[in-house]
Amino acid sequence: MPSEFDLIAKFFTRPAKRTVLGVGDDAALVRVSEGKELVVAADMLLAGRHFFHEDDAAGVGHKSLAVNLSDMAAMGATPRWVLLSIALPEADERWIGNFAQGLFALADAHGVALIGGDTTKGALTIAVTIMGEVERGQALRRGGAKPGDDIWVSGTLGDAALALAHLKRGISLAPHDAAVLLPRLHTPAPRVKLGQKLLGLAHSAIDISDGLLADLGHVLEASKVGAEIDVDAVPVSAAVRGYLEHAAAREAVLAGGDDYELCFTAAPKRHTEIEALSRRLKLNLTRVGHITRKKGLALHDAQGRPVTWEHKGFDHFA
Ligand code: ADP
Ligand code: MG
Repeated sequence: MPSEFDLIAKFFTRPAKRTVLGVGDDAALVRVSEGKELVVAADMLLAGRHFFHEDDAAGVGHKSLAVNLSDMAAMGATPRWVLLSIALPEADERWIGNFAQGLFALADAHGVALIGGDTTKGALTIAVTIMGEVERGQALRRGGAKPGDDIWVSGTLGDAALALAHLKRGISLAPHDAAVLLPRLHTPAPRVKLGQKLLGLAHSAIDISDGLLADLGHVLEASKVGAEIDVDAVPVSAAVRGYLEHAAAREAVLAGGDDYELCFTAAPKRHTEIEALSRRLKLNLTRVGHITRKKGLALHDAQGRPVTWEHKGFDHFA
C-alpha cells in the first residue's frame, strides 16, 4: 500500500509557477503582486452529494477545481494558487491518477499552481481552496447592483440541471442531447476570462451555482434592490429548448444549479461594450432583465404577462 506521502509525491507534487515555496514543507509561500488584493474562496465536493462514486475520476478532478475557478470569475479575479484537501476511502492509484490528470489539465489551462493541501483516509471528499489576485478595490461584488442596471447572463442556463435530471431518471433525454448536456454537468467551463473583462464594466456579479433565481436573489439582497426578469429571454441551448414543454426543463433553466455561468449587472450605457465583449470572447451574453428600486423579484414572459414562481433554487439545509 502506498503511504499518504507516496501519494502526495506521486500525484500531487509538481513544479509550481509564481510560488516561492510549494508542496513539501509545512506551508506554502506565495507573493502577492504590488497593488493587488488576495482573493480567497473554498468549495467542497462530497461523493454521493455533489458527484456520484461511479463518475469518471478525471471529471471529478476537473469539477472540483472548476467550481472554485468560477468563484474567482465571479469576483473578476485572476486565479493563481490552489490547495487540495482530499479524503480517500482507499489508495486506489488508478482513481487518484485520473483525478489528478483532470485537475491538472484545468489548472494548466488557467495557469493555476497546486501549492499544498492535505491527504487523509475517509469518505471520499474533496475540498479545494483557491487564491487569486485582483487590482486593489476593483473586485466585483454581489452588493454593487444599481437601480436601472441591465441584468446579463453568460452562456446558456439549465444544461447541467437537465443532465442531472436525466441521470436521476426524472426526464429521459435523447442520446444526442444527453451527449451534449452531460459534459456541461461533469466538466463545466468556468468563465474566468469574462469575469476579468467585467472589471470596470459591471457593477455586480455572481456565478450561477444554485440556479439563476436563487443566485440573482443573493445579488438583490446584498444590493438592497429588486429585479424584473423576462423568463423568455433567459438563454437556453438548442438541446434544452427541445424539452421546454416539460416543467422539469423550465425549472432547470430558471432554478437549476451547476451551470457555473456568470450573472452580472451593468449600466444600460455599457450595452454595446458588452455585446462587443461577447463577440470577442465568442460567448453568449444575454440581457434578461433589469434592476429596480422596488425590492423583490418580478418575473414576466415575452408578452409582459406576469409569471409566478415558487421554487427558489437549491439549499443544502432546506
Ligand atoms: P503536515 O503534517 O505538516 O500538515 P502533510 O504531511 O499534511 O504536512 O503534507 C505534506 C506536504 O504535502 C505539505 O506541503 C502539504 O501542503 C502537501 N500536501 C498534502 N496533501 C496534498 C494534496 N492532496 N495536494 C497537494 N499537496 C498536498
Ligand atoms: Mg497536513
